[in-house]
Amino acid sequence: MKVAGKKVLVVGLGKSGISAARYLTKKGARVSVSEIKTGDELDPHLILEVRELGVRLECGTHRESSFLNSDLIVISPGVPLDIGPLKAARERGIPVIGEMELASRAIEIPILAVTGTNGKSTVTAFLGSMLEGAGCRVFVGGNIGRPLIDYPAEGERADYAVVEVSSFQLDAVEKFHPTCAIILNISPDHLDRYESFEAYARSKLKIFQNMKKGDTAIVNDDDRLLREVTPTQKGLRVLRYGWQEKRNRHAFMNGTSVKAFLHEKDKYLFSVERFSLPGRHNMENLMPAILVGLELGLEPALIQQAIDGFKGLPHRLEHVASINGIDFYNDSKATNVDAASKSISSFHSPVVLIAGGRHKGGDYSQLAKVAKKQVKRAVLLGESKDLIAKWFEGTVPYSVAEDMEDAVSQAFLSAKPGYVVVLAPACSSFDMFSDYAQRGNVFKEAVRKLVHGN
Ligand code: ADP
Repeated sequence: MKVAGKKVLVVGLGKSGISAARYLTKKGARVSVSEIKTGDELDPHLILEVRELGVRLECGTHRESSFLNSDLIVISPGVPLDIGPLKAARERGIPVIGEMELASRAIEIPILAVTGTNGKSTVTAFLGSMLEGAGCRVFVGGNIGRPLIDYPAEGERADYAVVEVSSFQLDAVEKFHPTCAIILNISPDHLDRYESFEAYARSKLKIFQNMKKGDTAIVNDDDRLLREVTPTQKGLRVLRYGWQEKRNRHAFMNGTSVKAFLHEKDKYLFSVERFSLPGRHNMENLMPAILVGLELGLEPALIQQAIDGFKGLPHRLEHVASINGIDFYNDSKATNVDAASKSISSFHSPVVLIAGGRHKGGDYSQLAKVAKKQVKRAVLLGESKDLIAKWFEGTVPYSVAEDMEDAVSQAFLSAKPGYVVVLAPACSSFDMFSDYAQRGNVFKEAVRKLVHGN
């Protein structure tokens, strides 16, 4: 996409916004940035970098005239597509695309894309490490780590781009074309931004829309919705995986191994005995990644090495400490009901659950059902504590906490040796923390204080 000399407006000055501005400036575009936060609310480093790039910054408001005066608008994933100035720009025929779309038009290496409600980062990181372990040069990024636009912006050279893609990013793609794409699962999330669950699911399915003959789409056949999905492009290979063996599945569990194959005559077994991540969902996460590995022709022994060596990511069922026989896990990234429910089900021991935060729409019935079976006590905090309490009333004993330190100390007092205390909020963190990582770090610090005091 030629941008030299064009007036390009970048909307949203976050990680992907600044990277887009950097790329566009390098390519000779006349760049402005529009950001709804005020100068005081913005990270001063970002403001400094914008100045250094020589980019005009408009903050505290989105001025419609700036949108209408552009040749192209590039939006960040956090920016809702239905804000007035964007609607007005689209009505005038001004192209509005996301940073990922811009990036994909500048990228010639194969894009291996991962989406889904939960597990994207884990699978993206695992795929990245598997390919690196096999000697490939890999750019790993997108919705995790570095924005995809950094790849063309920095003039890097890789064999593959392994890209985590969120639904917000998919909302703003047109021609984005992965050669291999995975949808891990679709469960209710972000219902505060989408008009319905169907609208959210439609957005996820956009990942397949530009794929064609010779490409590979991989879907979780255990997922109620994905089971019904069959991309119809001629020559597009569709691979399905699921827990149990079924005729149409290319990967499934076989005892303590994943059995995976592309062709009937070449079946491989990958042991999960040395795989360190807890929970059945994490074994499910291995299956699509293994299929990608086979599809790319990796030696099965190298795929096995990646399984044995993968250590997972912080804030996803991360083991923090063991105190008096009680294990503490930080799953701060369990920001929706399905992830939190999977978190609880990962343990065979009695659980003390710390949950709550900013409500994202939807209900807590699945969480209440799982908690009823296994949670001995819940400690609820944040904006949604009363709402979750209503779902737990009469089935799951609970108490409420003032803050994370209070929650951890209440959880510790109610746990017995052999119990697990897990932070799995089922909500976003923005009511009390800057993001899930800060929430997880505050949890870990509170656990540390149990051991060492202040
Ligand atoms: P994402 O990038 O999609 O948010 P992460 O890998 O960061 O995914 O994990 C987010 C949360 O979802 C964590 O709590 C993790 O334990 C949980 N999780 C990971 N994989 C799955 C899965 N396949 N199904 C449900 N929950 C999952």
